[in-house]
Amino acid sequence: METSEAEHDDVIAWFEHVSEKACKVQSETLRRILELNSGVEYLKKWLGTIDVESIDDYTLESLYTSLVPIVSHADLDPYIQRIADGETSPLLTQEPITVLSLSSGTTEGRQKYVPFTRHSEQSTLQIFRLSAAYRSRFYPIREGGRILEFIYAGKGFKTQGGLTVGTATTHFYASKEFKTKQEKTKSFTCSPYEVISGGDFGQCTYCHLLLGLYFSTQVEFVASAFSFTIVQAFSIFEEIWREICGDIKEGNLSSRITLPNLRKAVLNLIRPNPSLASHIEEICLELESNLGWFGLIPKLWPNAKYISSIMTGSMLPYLKKVRHYAGGLPLVSADYGSTESWIGVNVDPQLPPEDVSFAVLPTCSYFEFIPIHRPQNQLDLCSDGEFVEDKPVPLSQVKIGQEYEVVLTTFTGLYRYRLGDIVEVTGFHKGTPKLSFIYRRKLILTINIDKNTEKDLQKVVDKASQLLSRTTRAEVVDFTSHADITAQPGHYIIYWEIRGEAEDKALEECCREMDADFVDYGYVVSRRMNSIGPLELRVVERGTFGKMAERCVGKCGGLNQFKTPRCTTNSVMLNILNDSTIKSFRSSAYD
Ligand code: AMP
Repeated sequence: METSEAEHDDVIAWFEHVSEKACKVQSETLRRILELNSGVEYLKKWLGTIDVESIDDYTLESLYTSLVPIVSHADLDPYIQRIADGETSPLLTQEPITVLSLSSGTTEGRQKYVPFTRHSEQSTLQIFRLSAAYRSRFYPIREGGRILEFIYAGKGFKTQGGLTVGTATTHFYASKEFKTKQEKTKSFTCSPYEVISGGDFGQCTYCHLLLGLYFSTQVEFVASAFSFTIVQAFSIFEEIWREICGDIKEGNLSSRITLPNLRKAVLNLIRPNPSLASHIEEICLELESNLGWFGLIPKLWPNAKYISSIMTGSMLPYLKKVRHYAGGLPLVSADYGSTESWIGVNVDPQLPPEDVSFAVLPTCSYFEFIPIHRPQNQLDLCSDGEFVEDKPVPLSQVKIGQEYEVVLTTFTGLYRYRLGDIVEVTGFHKGTPKLSFIYRRKLILTINIDKNTEKDLQKVVDKASQLLSRTTRAEVVDFTSHADITAQPGHYIIYWEIRGEAEDKALEECCREMDADFVDYGYVVSRRMNSIGPLELRVVERGTFGKMAERCVGKCGGLNQFKTPRCTTNSVMLNILNDSTIKSFRSSAYD
């Protein structure tokens, strides 16, 4: 069998090659996408019946970008809905679509579906292998070792037309490519599939931790999709480590694990190991009493070489805590992608997450970039209404230092699709741009994988305030929100100023309603798994929003231009809001 080193070299050599001639590869990628999907209803609408094969690369690219419009999910949604309803004629792709993925965000208040094909799984496998290859250059690991991986597959469901729907990660963990990834990178997840797909965050995390410790000497690195999960898993561990030690000692499983499949799979793997249990106990006692859990990971997993996970973007606030648990172990920021397409790979795994950018994979999709200019003094990323956009440019024309919104044309039937992410070009890897993730456009509320925009929040609050007016003699005068991550699990706080009298029972119901009405799949899954806590409604004293406006106007000028931010992280505002809170409720929507 080939050594993993040789495999790593091969995959890196391939990537260096495609990066070198990224512009050409992009033209070829566009051609392949259009050839594969030639004649589908959507393309016919814009391109007519042009014969893609007879046109040269340059003309094809300019025809495509001049005839096919830039769209957002809402524009493609009618096609995707028809697919979901079971229509089998080629609408977006020639390959029949039998699976849909749930991407983050919403369209018109509904969960956002995107088509998923074999290509999606294959490109995930490709980027995981590539990423493993770059990591191994800086942090070589032992072949055949294990990964303590905090990964979770949600439950899928069927559409009316019988298509399977789930998150992209759910599809991937269930696919043969996930097995291939482990074999090719010669690193094996500690937990069996039953644990990954258990569906209950608390129970699955317990089992991940238990098995991670049971196999602790074999663990070569610790990973999760988003670093938030690592923080959460270890803060749970601080509370339950004694129970886990007890299970290792006796080869048993705590009664908190109630899912039969999970119990069976884990019990099959473990045998009583009293000496390991007392060794772990000794370390944990020291970590708890003397070290405030600093360096938990290297102390419990002495052979771990690094921690790998997405640590950029909305994960930056968790970095401090990850570093605390890592106690000096390198943090490797994982790659940049979306349900719609993979985008870039971290070719500098040795860099701290704050400095990481991602080299665009020119074979994954055809990329365009809309130059974005935002006012220098824009303080709060919560509002991005003031943007000026230029005409989109291809990959070959991006400039270092410029910010862009990413536009994708994918193998899975998305054509000139605005992803909503703002990135900055920080340099080039050979001929392919390196992107640093700046933020998700229009996003205001996010804790982990949830992504809610101002519009989503507005909808939820509108509905609940209608309920309030219907059931009481009160009305909502103004509102704002905050994603609170100071305590685990994080949760949304919505602040209301109300006029009139409302009984607690009615407000409690409004709180529950708002929690239940956020339909973004990331939010729903996180709430179900309790990796996001119950939404909180805080009612503030009359006049609080006026007070905030005055404070802000004092600082930033004209009252007539003041708009209540619908989400705030500003500590002055939060202090005013919290000091003025007279009542607070927690939702029971997911109890
Ligand atoms: P989803 O489609 O739900 O998987 O979410 C994809 C979104 O997550 C992207 O469009 C980004 O906004 C964000 N994201 C993914 N990877 C990264 C990364 N490495 N750094 C920062 N944000 C990321």
